[in-house]
Amino acid sequence: MPKTKAQGKHRMTRRELAAALAPAAGAEAEIEAKFLREASADEDWLRTAIARRLRGEPLQYILGEWEFMGLPFYVGPGALIPRQDTETLCEAALAWLKPRPDARVLDLCCGTGCIGVSLAKLDGARVAFADVSPDALALAQRNAARNGVDGIFYESDLFTHVPGVYDLIACNPPYLSAAEMKACQKELTFEPALALYGGEDGLDFYRRLAAEWAAHVRPGGLLLMEIGYAQGDAVGRLFPHATIRKDICGLDRVACVERI
Ligand code: GLN
Repeated sequence: MPKTKAQGKHRMTRRELAAALAPAAGAEAEIEAKFLREASADEDWLRTAIARRLRGEPLQYILGEWEFMGLPFYVGPGALIPRQDTETLCEAALAWLKPRPDARVLDLCCGTGCIGVSLAKLDGARVAFADVSPDALALAQRNAARNGVDGIFYESDLFTHVPGVYDLIACNPPYLSAAEMKACQKELTFEPALALYGGEDGLDFYRRLAAEWAAHVRPGGLLLMEIGYAQGDAVGRLFPHATIRKDICGLDRVACVERI
């Protein structure tokens, strides 16, 4: 029997569509709602979005924005997509900042600026942002403006062009190893390797930070670094006074080092 048009051409339900486009981990309701609005208003947009997603491009880049710490952030291929893992670092920073109202903060390797913007917005901290990538820095500036916070922005390879001494340095450096870069899921290949690759063993930036950080933090200040889930011991050896915090999955995620 010949197929009718309806049998031959399966129309996806919204639920199927959302499942096809969903990222590996939970999309936020507001962004999903925006997606559904755009999708239903503009079929061309939807077709392009599906084609891009099927090629493995992360949903966040297709939408152009993502949520972090309850705040909206522009995202783009010049910087890492904000991840929920990194909220562990922000929460540790917010707890430390609470009794220190005049703290000066540096968001080092800031990418989209999601850490520094969150601390400025949620705590009122004075924040400077630094990144080696001009594209990332431009995104961080847009995100500061979007969230109504001020900042100073330095184009800098770690501390090379960052003046001053800070109370708190928050840093999410590139920390994937060569093996992890090879084994990664397709979505990750759309993100800048510059923001992900931490050298053969993933620890290059922690070695540099271990040599340089103390000159940029005042006594009594704090360095918070995001780390890979398997890097707690190695980073603990580079920073002998570090305490390691776990993320909501129970995995090592943040190294906290006080400047004595
Ligand atoms: N957590 C990221 C990932 O595994 C890596 C982030 C980073 O290198 N700073 O995708």
